[in-house]
Amino acid sequence: MSQFWSPAVRELTPYVPGEQPREKLIKLNTNENPYPPAPGVEAALRDYPVDHLRRYPDPQSLALRQALAREHGVEVGQVFVGNGSDEVLALAFQAFFCHDRPLEMPDITYSFYPVYCKLYAIERRSLPLDDQWRVDLDAFAADSGGIIFANPNAPTAHGHPRAAIARLLQRVTEPVVLVDEAYVDFGGESAVPLIERFPNLLVTGTFSKSRSLAGLRLGYAIGSRELIEGLERVKDSFNSYPVDSLASALGIASLADREHFDACRERVITTRERTVRRLTELGFDVLPSQANFLLARHPGHDAAQLFVGLRERGILVRHFNTEALRDFLRISIGTDDEMDSLVEAFELLCR
Ligand SMILES: *Cc1c(COP(=O)(O)O)cnc(C)c1O
Repeated sequence: MSQFWSPAVRELTPYVPGEQPREKLIKLNTNENPYPPAPGVEAALRDYPVDHLRRYPDPQSLALRQALAREHGVEVGQVFVGNGSDEVLALAFQAFFCHDRPLEMPDITYSFYPVYCKLYAIERRSLPLDDQWRVDLDAFAADSGGIIFANPNAPTAHGHPRAAIARLLQRVTEPVVLVDEAYVDFGGESAVPLIERFPNLLVTGTFSKSRSLAGLRLGYAIGSRELIEGLERVKDSFNSYPVDSLASALGIASLADREHFDACRERVITTRERTVRRLTELGFDVLPSQANFLLARHPGHDAAQLFVGLRERGILVRHFNTEALRDFLRISIGTDDEMDSLVEAFELLCR
């Protein structure tokens, strides 16, 4: 606590990201992709004319937005880009959720959302998941100050089909509904095709997980022109150039390679299913996953102890020390070799 901090800053509870260890560990704790970015990304990096860095980037990031618009079958005016989807989310909280009615979200979801509520002094209403650890779409009110959830949800990994999101939007027409699709490419169903019918729907996405570009910091939002304009108003009042020229060029190169993208996500999905089977054989309860991670608990073993045991064997996973999640480990899907090491470690620890 410092005398120099504003009163509001003294009250903040910042997000705690997963550890980025210095030593060489099998890193299954932050849902990064185990495979490299598309080969075209490396080529674009090598060929990038460094003199371009003298100039400010295009404040509208038009080329990147056009590439995203093509990828998602929407108009460029329906696409917004930012410095990671965390930034896009922050701008969306300011643009749409800062008013006197509470923002609704599941009580178990991406833990950055409550942090933004605190930052922007937004009142929050948390709704319990249903008895199968799924986001309860029927529990959201039609007259809240907004709705946000991840689909597939984090860290529970369940995703609702597009038709279920459409039913929610038929009922909830006034508040902005933000669907965070950070994990959708691993077997979920995107709500993007619904934006034409529902002007209050905003979908966010990221290059960090399925495109193996977490270090580049690129995220985006897709929605009606009025929502995108709202985001632009906030962006242009904060930082006109959130996406740098290099990130933009590399993002475009990533989008150009559909084959690499599909191959990587299919590998992750195959490894995930194989890991689910093996963990189940070891006695774990594994929640069904449409993401690149698993949430698993062992009825006979304490998750915090398993976390420590794995760490001693050079394997890093995530343990959330909250009442609801204390019994679970969240395990990102790595390569087959990495997951074999994990299963071998569990075989020793769970004997
Ligand atoms: C990883 C993640 C993000 C953040 O993505 P960045 O683009 O890397 O900022 C957003 N939402 C959820 C649910 C995530 O898991």
